[in-house]
Amino acid sequence: MKDTQALKDFLQTPRKIVITTHANPDADALGSSLGLHHFLIRQGHDVSTIVPNSYPDFLEWMPGNPLVINYEKSKEAAEKLLSDAELLFCLDFSGFGRIKGLKEAAMSSPAKIALVDHHLNPEIQPDFNFWNDQSAATAELIYDLIVEFSGKEAIDAGIAECLYAGIMTDTGSFKHPSTTSKIHRMVAELIDLGADVNKVSRLIYDTNSLHRLKFLGHALAEKLKVDEGSRVAYFVIGEEDFKDFRLKQGDTEGLVNYALSIKGIVVAAIIIQRDNEIKLSFRSIGDFAVNKFAEEYFGGGGHKNASGGASDLSLEETEKKFKELIEKDILKTHIK
Ligand code: 5GP
Ligand code: MN
Repeated sequence: MKDTQALKDFLQTPRKIVITTHANPDADALGSSLGLHHFLIRQGHDVSTIVPNSYPDFLEWMPGNPLVINYEKSKEAAEKLLSDAELLFCLDFSGFGRIKGLKEAAMSSPAKIALVDHHLNPEIQPDFNFWNDQSAATAELIYDLIVEFSGKEAIDAGIAECLYAGIMTDTGSFKHPSTTSKIHRMVAELIDLGADVNKVSRLIYDTNSLHRLKFLGHALAEKLKVDEGSRVAYFVIGEEDFKDFRLKQGDTEGLVNYALSIKGIVVAAIIIQRDNEIKLSFRSIGDFAVNKFAEEYFGGGGHKNASGGASDLSLEETEKKFKELIEKDILKTHIK
């Protein structure tokens, strides 16, 4: 779905624009936001990027990082920008429930909405729609949007690296089934436009603190639970792990993939308690649709093979609920 011409017409006049993305922003959320931010600024618009909460420090290298407004730290400024905005870009999410505290200000903003996203079952009814669930990353959609608006010459090295970061991480470093030949061609273009792929992957993947590595050892040795019968493996990470290993946001990123990499395992999860909130991440290989599972039982969603949700129960009760339900649903898939 694309409303390119309608958006082009709307952007003929300089506009007040807010870009926002989902809570706990990842590299695709932030990279597509900042890539678009730089492009729109150069087109003469007044642009602000607002995130619902903080993001890991391995994303702070992105050009434009100091411009990003964190709603939890600057509520009034963010609310004012939203109430003045003429256009609100919703990037990498498609339901207002995904932007936490920003939800109310976004929903009451007079701004027209442009949706650029690749998650299933969009809830937002946009004025300009760039939603496509076949896309590997929102950064892929932003690349196409910029090229359709102004040609690829409008992408400088900074934009190219923001978009590359989103594509690299959302394709699991070009390993997920979403890694099409189009993605490889796009990345080839991004390299020609100045993206330093070695730099970006080092900054995102190879910047571990010693605490994080020790935590990884601890999690693999003590926290990994494997049920070979139902082919499920998962981690439960409590508040005390964050304290003991001085973990920061983002330090648990990627851990779930170790569980999924065990031979024979088809569903992996990580249940994390932090700041009195419980978040769950799910991954699968093949047919089992973890987005449906997340939606049905944990008020979440995502993609068929990667999803997430939340729980109001205690950590123990959440684990029990997860175990019971996954065993039941997995069984259904195996029988089918
Ligand atoms: P992650 O496990 O990396 O946080 O998220 C995996 C995928 O699930 C991402 O596409 C993300 O947007 C989606 N996701 C994670 N948590 C939630 C949630 O609470 N609600 C919904 N709707 N999607 C989520
Ligand atoms: Mn994404």
